[in-house]
Amino acid sequence: MEQFVRKLRSWMKSPDLDTLQKLICVQPHPDDADISMGATVAKLSEKGVKIYYISVTDGSAGTRDESLLGQRLAEIRKKEQEKAGEILGVHELIWLDFEDLGDYSLEQVRSKIVGIIRKIEPDAVFTVDPFAPYEVHPDHIKCGMSVAQAVSLYKLPKLLPGTSSHDVAIVGFFNTPFPNTFYPVERKHLDKKFQAISQHKSQFDEKTLQMLFFYLTEKSKGYALEENKFVEVFKLLPPTALHVMSEAYLL
Ligand SMILES: [Zn+2]
Repeated sequence: MEQFVRKLRSWMKSPDLDTLQKLICVQPHPDDADISMGATVAKLSEKGVKIYYISVTDGSAGTRDESLLGQRLAEIRKKEQEKAGEILGVHELIWLDFEDLGDYSLEQVRSKIVGIIRKIEPDAVFTVDPFAPYEVHPDHIKCGMSVAQAVSLYKLPKLLPGTSSHDVAIVGFFNTPFPNTFYPVERKHLDKKFQAISQHKSQFDEKTLQMLFFYLTEKSKGYALEENKFVEVFKLLPPTALHVMSEAYLL
């Protein structure tokens, strides 16, 4: 069994992230991708990779202040994400504008993602890991699973009329408890990530920001194999691993 899994790992090995030309990051809320893969986005955009952000929801529920809740907050968060995206070198921000913590369905998100994958033809699509056992936020669960399904099934006209001859090489999960990729970044990329996260002022006061930066820095060092190195962690898979491959969680 172990030998078989080792073989499977080498057969299913994802291409190096440094060879990508176009990638899509699908996030449940404006700020999730900056927090979870901002340094990677900074590094890859510096290399000329075209990076598209898709925000599934409008972020309108991210407050305890009832006077801000709804459209007012959605507008603020769009502006915050625009500033953060500019710092990280994001090529384009795409908004699906589903209501934050709303009653939209996974299937509705999935068909939007299918349409965008067919149009942009990315090498890789990143999102939150829908298989993370302790994740309870419904927007995160729906986002991760709708993207995983879309990346696996986007050629089928049943999901959305039409098809595609393009092959997505990698599906990448962040916020994952099952990482298989420790992507090296430099201190300057982490600094850019923190600068980007700081733009989400509606979400973090100064004290929370400092705690978040401490956690993210320690995590980035903690997963690195060498002293004074930084990484961001992902579970990378070829989309074919997402259906009837019961060993996918071991890859
Ligand atoms: Zn979120």
